[in-house]
Amino acid sequence: MSDNFQKVEHLCYQIKRQYPLWPSTFGQCSRECGRGKMARGSGLCEDCLVDELSSLVGERLSKEYLNTIKYEFELLSHFKEIMDDSSQS
Ligand SMILES: [Zn+2]
Repeated sequence: MSDNFQKVEHLCYQIKRQYPLWPSTFGQCSRECGRGKMARGSGLCEDCLVDELSSLVGERLSKEYLNTIKYEFELLSHFKEIMDDSSQS
């Protein structure tokens, strides 16, 4: 496996980690980029991670990945709500 693909995979994993389904610790972006997004476990924020990914796979694909993660997060949050509701009745 190429080193660059490992970097891509790691960045994708980090981006996904910005969307936890359970309470998680967030802090300042370790790059102190000042773009206002909090970073999971005080690593890089979502914007910085997407920038890094863009430099490897291009902006269009990295945005596409981010949108997919956001969509998955939306669906999972919705599933969680449905299950929470059904366990209360
Ligand atoms: Zn940042």
